[in-house]
Amino acid sequence: MVKIAKILFPVAVPEPFDYAIPASMKLAAGDFVYAPLGKQAKLGVVWGFGEREDIGKLKEISESKPCRSLNAEILKFINFTAKYNCALQGLVLRMVLRSHKALEPSPDVTLFTPTGEQPAGLSATRKRVLGLSDIWPARAGEIAKAAKVSSSVLNTMAKAGFLEKFTAPLDPPFDMPDPAHDGRAFDLTPRQISAGEELQALVRQQMFNVALLDGVTGSGKTEVYLEAAAEALRAGGQVLILVPEIALTQAGLKRFEERFGVEPAQWHSAMGDAARRRVWREVHGGRARLVVGARSALFLPYADLQLIVVDEEHDGSYKQDEGVIYNARDMAVVRGKLAGAAVVLASATPSLESLTNARSGRYHHVILPERPGAAIMPEVALVDLKDHKPAPGKFLSQPLIDGIGQALTQGDQAMLYLNRRGYAPLIICRACGERLKSPDTDSWLVQHKRTGRAICHHTGFSMPMPSACPECKAEDALTPVGPGVERVAEESALLFPDARIEVLSSDTAGNPERIRERMGAMAAGEIDILVGTQMVVKGHNFPHLTFVGVVDGDLSLGGGDLRAGERTYQTLVQVAGRAGRAEKPGRALIQTHMPDHEALVALAAGDREGFIAAELGMREILGLPPYGKLAAIIISAPDAKKADEFAKKTLNAAPRADGIEILGPSEAPMAILRGRHRRRLLIKSEPNVNLSAYMAIWKSRLRPPHKTKLAIDIDPQGFM
Ligand SMILES: [Zn+2]
Repeated sequence: MVKIAKILFPVAVPEPFDYAIPASMKLAAGDFVYAPLGKQAKLGVVWGFGEREDIGKLKEISESKPCRSLNAEILKFINFTAKYNCALQGLVLRMVLRSHKALEPSPDVTLFTPTGEQPAGLSATRKRVLGLSDIWPARAGEIAKAAKVSSSVLNTMAKAGFLEKFTAPLDPPFDMPDPAHDGRAFDLTPRQISAGEELQALVRQQMFNVALLDGVTGSGKTEVYLEAAAEALRAGGQVLILVPEIALTQAGLKRFEERFGVEPAQWHSAMGDAARRRVWREVHGGRARLVVGARSALFLPYADLQLIVVDEEHDGSYKQDEGVIYNARDMAVVRGKLAGAAVVLASATPSLESLTNARSGRYHHVILPERPGAAIMPEVALVDLKDHKPAPGKFLSQPLIDGIGQALTQGDQAMLYLNRRGYAPLIICRACGERLKSPDTDSWLVQHKRTGRAICHHTGFSMPMPSACPECKAEDALTPVGPGVERVAEESALLFPDARIEVLSSDTAGNPERIRERMGAMAAGEIDILVGTQMVVKGHNFPHLTFVGVVDGDLSLGGGDLRAGERTYQTLVQVAGRAGRAEKPGRALIQTHMPDHEALVALAAGDREGFIAAELGMREILGLPPYGKLAAIIISAPDAKKADEFAKKTLNAAPRADGIEILGPSEAPMAILRGRHRRRLLIKSEPNVNLSAYMAIWKSRLRPPHKTKLAIDIDPQGFM
């Protein structure tokens, strides 16, 4: 028998391929190699070994790459993620290998820094160089540009002893977080300290453990889980803190720095190649000890992971909906298990799945029932829009207007929440009734007044706002229908002409720095009324904010989404929770057409238990998570007939099994997207069924025809 190697490539392949091993080559699982794939030698990873009688025409590995290997833990994690989510193994590996350059050691660069020598009679050029501040140490090119000198001047100055010239790595290591550092301006409360100690005890066990840190908004969950992080850092381990992508753009990061004295390593989708390479390499080498990142940070190659925190664990942005479809919250628990690490799921509004696990004893349940000090929870009330109709063409009812007015009179701030970007969600022609639709997609164009454009929020299609109706050519007949944040801000400005009003949504705020800056301005009291989308919901403390108005509390209710009630409840608790920190009591008003909806009634009554009981009761009857499992198949094709045909074939290929119920095929809620017609099947199973395995068998029986696509979504969250 001849030993062969199984090599996985970071491309769309379902499993590793077999290769012959050159006689002189020593290999272990996790090693990087180059091996021929198609016409070229490609970078792959040794996944394991096998034996063959005869290696015949088997291709040989070209060369091994001398660099640190991937450890067994991440290989297992890739295998599990692929299997559980019915995804291609190679594509999961690709999520791990986000930076090939990170496999090379950091190249050195030459840097200059002043020696302190500054004799009289320096030339003007040299004076300009030594007069630079905030730049040192710096590369020759940077100095030359800043001081407007030629680079050759720098070498002369180094020879003359005015500058020191030295080499250093291009990607410097991250500063070590110091668990003993504590630059916070406040003390933890006794309850926070004891909750922190509970989590520390779990970390100290150095084995897999999950805790749900369940604390009301403003109860100091971050401070508490940072104590768990301190424990893992003291033990020499690595800590990963997952946050919703949006939170990375906000000032929450400052709290990590205050606690540990250094900025953590950050990982998110918008980072550049250089930053990516540096973080990957330092995490792989075990030198980056504290990582704060969006969901994809879970796929970094940690050397010694001892704690994973999933902050705002209920948040929908942990679900990746394209490519490899997975839920980072659930995969974090798996990763913790493989690493033998503690996992902390933190939320003011935990998902029903996590709550059920906590109540059944599978997870530890650490509860923070109150806000610290004198801070009290905001008073929440519903405004029935049937009784309090806004003026025609307006969207704010009198109680909301009064609430804003009262906050401003007291010198406080108000916030209006509406999860709709732009000016109006719909543009309609008064002459012919035409609604402006996104090309080849089942959604309306949204009017953006600030940019003067009509935009599709699903595909990104955008065009200048037309002056005439594209259908009947009537001039000035296009009318905005419904409110977006820009329109609510406009209405507020008419009502409160002296107020400083600001709109904050992903498209108005632009880059992360700008968002951080505007959030800072809000915290500093430089804004009177903040009108915002989802972006303003999370985590930020505004000490002078005492009134929150929710313009449309019904927005995500209805629509047939199984989690609609849960998500509405969670979002509104978070929004209302922005009001009243520190010593000032806060108030939140929610406008609604459905004042009897159980999520809203529970919210107004502050009755979380009541909401959970009702929601769980409904899911138990329907056999939905956490009482059953769910998967979806999405089929898409260039035309409706092809989509229908393949959807029918898919249904006919379903394996027979007990405890499985198949719904559909039916049109997906977004029936046409970017010109592709979409059909959906929903698969419900009893809790003891291995749904991933069932779906894998089903998938193996299907061969989508040319241009038809099939995607499997295990544990779907929303239904698009
Ligand atoms: Zn028209």
